[in-house]
Formats: sequence, structure tokens, C-alpha cells
Amino acid sequence: MEEYFGNVNPVGPRGCYDEAKRFQEAITMAYHNHHGLETRIVRIFNTYGPRMRLNDGRVLPAFLSQALRGENLTVFGDGSQTRSFCYVDDLVEGIYRLLLSNYALPVNIGNPDEITIKEFGEEIANLMGVEFQPTFQELPQNDPMKRKPDITKAREILSWVPKVDRAEGLRRTLEYFKEHITEVTAGKVNNTPRSF
Ligand code: UDP
Repeated sequence: MEEYFGNVNPVGPRGCYDEAKRFQEAITMAYHNHHGLETRIVRIFNTYGPRMRLNDGRVLPAFLSQALRGENLTVFGDGSQTRSFCYVDDLVEGIYRLLLSNYALPVNIGNPDEITIKEFGEEIANLMGVEFQPTFQELPQNDPMKRKPDITKAREILSWVPKVDRAEGLRRTLEYFKEHITEVTAGKVNNTPRSF
């Protein structure tokens, strides 16, 4: 929930990413409190959908591209880490509602439907009608083991909940990937852990 102040490694491979987010919130609140500026802080969780970059190393483009190319899916660690994926239209609606509110403290916007990365790979393989064949690789350093937003605030303050479930969101995203099949098949899938 939003009141949790976090526990991140400032000098790990994700340090710049984590600390930059924290600093943005700090400076935003400083402008709000000190200068009376109207501000909003949205905490965005894993998001996916059409027009995602096909080759940016995130798990969904990596898995979809690999499945489209008939390759094994690269699962980092044993795949027991969880993520909660929000369809982009839901995210946009949540941000829009937050902008129209007068709430200046952080608000989580994400889909709390949590899934392990291994199950996610299985879902994508099923959707594509291929067998799920994972290649296990080393878990990146400081890769969070669990990510699931508590969206009580968004529900109460913005009357917002995500509407597009993963089955529907993945179908729509797959359509987009199929339209861009040449880009998917031409380039090598980027599945190197993102270093931010
Ligand atoms: N992941 C994976 N295989 C890949 C790419 C990512 O197993 O080819 C894992 C990654 O280790 C992480 C999860 O999928 O546990 C989500 O990774 P992503 O980079 O999409 O988002 P983030 O780590 O920022 O939540």
C-alpha cells in the first residue's frame, strides 16, 4: 500500500531506477507543500498492451516474441516470482481520474491479479497454441520476488478498478504483435535483464 516507504538497494543494478522514482516523488511533494503547486503522484505497476516496444527486454514482449518465433521462453530464476499486469487502457483511465481528482499523495494504479512468471509463460504458450518449453536462466540481481498493488485508495478515491482481464488483454496484445510479425521475426529477441 502507499504508506509503505519501501526497501530498496541504492547501489544495486536497479539503484538509479529505484532512487530516481523516490526522488521524483520527494521533489513533487516539496513543490506541492512549499510552493502550493497542484501535483499528482501515480505509482504505476507492470503495464502491457498494444504499441509496447517489441524488443525492450520486458517479460511480455520477450515471451510473445519467443513464442511467435518458435523459441523456448526464457524464464529467469525458477519463475516463482510474481507480477501483476495491468492492461494499458485501464492504466490510462486510472491516471486520468487521478488528474481530475484533488488528491496529491501517491496512488497505486495497477491490476492486483497476481501471477507467477512461470504461469505467465504457460498462459502465453497456451494462447499461442504452442507447448510451454522454458529455458531457465539466472535470476537478475535484486529482481523483486513479489509485486501486487493494493488499489484500495484508487478504488475509494477515484472509483477506479481495472476492467480488462489478462485473457482479454493478452488477446488484444497478441493481435498487435502479429501485425508487427516481421519486426518480431527479423530482430533477435532482447531478453537481457533490463539495467535501467
Ligand atoms: N523475466 C523473465 N524472462 C524474460 C524477461 C523477464 O523471466 O525474458 C522476468 C524478470 O526476471 C522479472 C519479471 O519477468 O521477474 C518481470 O520482468 P520485467 O522486466 O518485465 O518487469 P519488472 O522486473 O520491472 O517488473
